[in-house]
Amino acid sequence: MSVAEAVKKFDELTLDEKLDRLAEVAVKVGLGLKAGQELIMTAPMDALPLARRITEQAYKAGALLVTTFYGDDPSVLARYQYAPDASFDYAPAWLQDGIANGFRSGAARLAIAGANPALLSKQDPTKVSRTNVAASKAGKPAMELITRHEINWTIVAAATPEWAKLVFPDDLEHIALAKLWEAIFASSRINVDDPVAEWKQHGKHLKQRVDLLNAKRFSALRFKGPGTDLKVGLADDHLWAGGGTTAGNGVYCQPNIPTEECFTTPHKDRVDGTVRATKPLSHQGTLIENIAVRFEAGKIVEATATAGEDVLNRLISTDEGARRLGEVALVPHNSPIAQSGILFWNTLFDENAASHIALGQAYSTCILGGEKMDSAQLAALGANESLIHVDWMIGSAEIDVDGIAADGTAEPLMRKGAWV
Ligand code: ZN
Ligand code: ZN
Repeated sequence: MSVAEAVKKFDELTLDEKLDRLAEVAVKVGLGLKAGQELIMTAPMDALPLARRITEQAYKAGALLVTTFYGDDPSVLARYQYAPDASFDYAPAWLQDGIANGFRSGAARLAIAGANPALLSKQDPTKVSRTNVAASKAGKPAMELITRHEINWTIVAAATPEWAKLVFPDDLEHIALAKLWEAIFASSRINVDDPVAEWKQHGKHLKQRVDLLNAKRFSALRFKGPGTDLKVGLADDHLWAGGGTTAGNGVYCQPNIPTEECFTTPHKDRVDGTVRATKPLSHQGTLIENIAVRFEAGKIVEATATAGEDVLNRLISTDEGARRLGEVALVPHNSPIAQSGILFWNTLFDENAASHIALGQAYSTCILGGEKMDSAQLAALGANESLIHVDWMIGSAEIDVDGIAADGTAEPLMRKGAWV
């Protein structure tokens, strides 16, 4: 590479060169992939060009073997159209067990997000939720290794035509696609001269915020805004996390690209009040709009939505823990993703544009010493357990957040969506 090439400005790069930068950040920053490590990747078929750049970068970093499972939206729809009824209660546990075995023997995990968020909107919601439950059950052993951060893993996004059309409905397909790529590059902080250095800096800032929140030892957070008055009790011995983390296998990784959130574990029995979603939720191919929920003693006792209410109610009926919170996260309204004003219909982006809560499974890494606890010990501290983990946005420029100390005194944390 010549010197002239090395200092080429981001805007002058070809799409393929930009993809290569995203791939480099995914492998070096996202995964922190170690020489000799195996990589298991999942990708939508439309993300093939990015998957190939990531594969190259992984081998350059010394990957032992890269194995990629491609998903194809039309093939998914074919299942809904033609498969026998029994198909919707089935998931290949043999494959998921194999992936879990791969993790146990040292493989890293990378997911490329980019499937059409509305793919299953017109399908029978009962079939959709049966399929999701079967997939969650079969995927539990592998998912547990991820939520316990036993291995280094990350998620990056690829713009795909159907997703782009949903985000930019007024544009021609190729323009929408180009706009979505640029939005992904900007949010993923790779549109700078040295993205790897930029990520180091960004990680340092998130870490400072996390350290500050951990020092406060709040017993609860209070969210107030239009339609929202919610008190979220925090789990005993909760730990705030954000940015990079050292996985159980000793590798430092950035689990989400982009990432802007500081998050922790709520107490599963100490959430009270009402909350209104500030963005629609895209859940496994269905869109749920205008969610409004009331909590009593940690449990959802009332849930409505103006679209996808069926899917929402099935979702929270998945198991006992699906009605309770497993995560609460603070995201300032001035993050690059929030400032773009774009609704991505994709949790990876939308959850990094606004403060949010997640129904379902808690991260044991957000409890002091939690990685080494069994589920009974985690539950005793208030950490929730469920087959699901679904984030939805409750933050906006109209939301105020207070931290509540053990003695009940409130301290302003966010005003109008910005850190105080
Ligand atoms: Zn989150
Ligand atoms: Zn989450």
